[in-house]
Amino acid sequence: MPIRPWLLSGPAIGYLRVCRWFGPPSSPVVSTVPDRRARKARMTDWKSDFLTAIDEDQLYLLYQPQMTADGARMVAVEALVRWHHPTDGPLGSGAFVDKVEQHGLEQELGAWVLEAACREALAWPQIGLAVNVSAQQFRDERFVGGVLGTVERLGFDPTRLELEIVESTFIDDFEVTSAAIDRLRAAGIRIALDDFGTGYSSLTYLRRLPLDKIKIDQSFVREIDQMQSAAIVHAVVALARALGLKITAEGVETEEQQRFMKAAGCHYLQGYRFARPLDPQALTAMLKDLGQA
Ligand code: C2E
Ligand code: MG
Ligand code: MG
Repeated sequence: MPIRPWLLSGPAIGYLRVCRWFGPPSSPVVSTVPDRRARKARMTDWKSDFLTAIDEDQLYLLYQPQMTADGARMVAVEALVRWHHPTDGPLGSGAFVDKVEQHGLEQELGAWVLEAACREALAWPQIGLAVNVSAQQFRDERFVGGVLGTVERLGFDPTRLELEIVESTFIDDFEVTSAAIDRLRAAGIRIALDDFGTGYSSLTYLRRLPLDKIKIDQSFVREIDQMQSAAIVHAVVALARALGLKITAEGVETEEQQRFMKAAGCHYLQGYRFARPLDPQALTAMLKDLGQA
């Protein structure tokens, strides 16, 4: 009897397609099953590796200065997480932050980063501290209490703290997120929207969330010699200023980019032109050089 695909259930149709592409199950398609199992085992390993990294202090922070637009004064530092992996060596955030979220460990990472950053930044009371938080963290009702509890326990001045919302996942519940932000702001903590212009819905966020600052993504800064990017930067600065927001441009590498962003009206600049992410000793040295320590 011929096979009638319309009479088959979903998995059976899938089986048929697999057979068509790879041949019947005696062929290599069968051998992908153990592969999948091994991948799953590796994923679980990864999760426990990461939790071990937190427990055994394999994570550490670098701090990148945020400067006034003339580059003369440091106003704050952004904490950027790194992982000193026992076998893979030092890993940048790009190599693991997304994975952390895929495994649902963003609260664990977030709590570690906030605590470590506030502790270390107690040594630099003259400047602010920016900490990245993923949009996902706002979904947990314990998040705000955790942040407020940490700053209080450490005696960290909340008005020095700024949380940069990284839009790794779409914010779907604006009421919950806005209410959380309101509580943080009531305690004096400021909220910045990171990587502005690259997310799915930057303008919606601007309209629906009570923010203090936007950070213009480095992709626009890199392309200011192109008319489109330059026009977008001018429009974004005008929009942010009209809404009473502060503006930081990130990824500023050259003198020309600094001049452009300053003239466009950005309040603060961050990028390799001023400093790469620094370890605490190098940061203290830079503050001394600037006459701020
Ligand atoms: P971000 O928050 O936008 O951080 C800026 C990134 O740009 C950093 O990369 C920084 O090292 C890099 N950068 C700074 N200045 C320049 C420059 O002039 N030129 C170029 N080409 N790059 C520059 P990093 O440290 O690899 O961080 C990547 C992203 O990982 C961050 O982007 C942030 O989204 C995420 N991330 C970092 N730390 C954390 C964290 O503690 N928690 C969470 N949730 N995400 C984090
Ligand atoms: Mg950031
Ligand atoms: Mg950014």
